Formats: sequence, structure tokens, C-alpha cells
Amino acid sequence: MEQSYQFEEPGLLSAISVGIPGKRTFFLLMGEKEKWLRLWLEKEQLEALALAIDQFLLALYQELHLSPEETEGLSLSDDVPSGLPSAELEIDQISISFDQEKTSLDFLVHILGPQKIDDVIVNLRASLAQLKQLGEQARSVCAAGRPRCQLCGGPIDPAGHTCPKHN
Ligand SMILES: [Zn+2]
Repeated sequence: MEQSYQFEEPGLLSAISVGIPGKRTFFLLMGEKEKWLRLWLEKEQLEALALAIDQFLLALYQELHLSPEETEGLSLSDDVPSGLPSAELEIDQISISFDQEKTSLDFLVHILGPQKIDDVIVNLRASLAQLKQLGEQARSVCAAGRPRCQLCGGPIDPAGHTCPKHN
């Protein structure tokens, strides 16, 4: 089993959720057509990633004197590739950095399964536009869940909601 994955020119990078509201699972797809990975993560991790991307880009725009419009352009396809991924992994840690005009996403992951196998590293070089698009996708995927109760902040299921703050 390969212990690290490196994608210099990923054609695929997207945030996806599957399942019904309240029971959704979340993952990132990344890589190339012939070799791609599915990285599972918690909704909270995906929300944190969306926020981290926002803050990262904001700081970068200021540092490089860019405007957000300048990172528009290239749009990723959100087609799910056919066939099986090269690996199913679970995300432990994500970090974002920037050098030489591209962003670098580093994922510390482990192989999905009952026993936690040694850490695996996934590194992906993404353009600013790709990173921005991933952030937007992550946010909209998270927001597409159940609506929140205005009284208690709890999620409202399609079947209804018994509010602890309402009596
Ligand atoms: Zn409520």
C-alpha cells in the first residue's frame, strides 16, 4: 500500500455529501481521472475547512494585492469519476499553504477500516481558483442539511422537531 499520494495537476477536487438530511456522510474527491482518492470527513471538519479556506484566501489576497475576481476562471468539473478510487481514506488533519503561485493542501489521513493503519500523507497542488471553488462547494454542501430551529438551534427533521425550549 502506497503511503503517500501527490497530485501536481489535479483535475478533480470536490466536496460531496450523500444520504438523507440528518444522516449524511461527507467526503472529498481528489486526484486525476485514472488515479483518484475518496477522503471521508465529518461535517464539522468540512465546515472548518470551508472557513479555513476563506480565511486563507482573504489573507492571501491582501498579501499579494489581488482581488477575489482575479482568482475566477478555471472551473472544476464536479463529475464523480466512474470506477473505484485508488484508496478510501479518513481525514485526520488538513493544512493549507501557498508557494510559487499555487496552494498546497496537505492531508494527514489513515486508511479506512477497523484498525487504524499508519498515517498516510496526501498532498495536492491547487490553483487559487480551485481552492476557492472547493471552499464554496464545502460551504454549500454543509448548508444543504436540515434547517435549524430558531428557539433551540437544534436540527429540524422532515418528520418534525420536539423542541426542548418549547413547553
Ligand atoms: Zn427547537
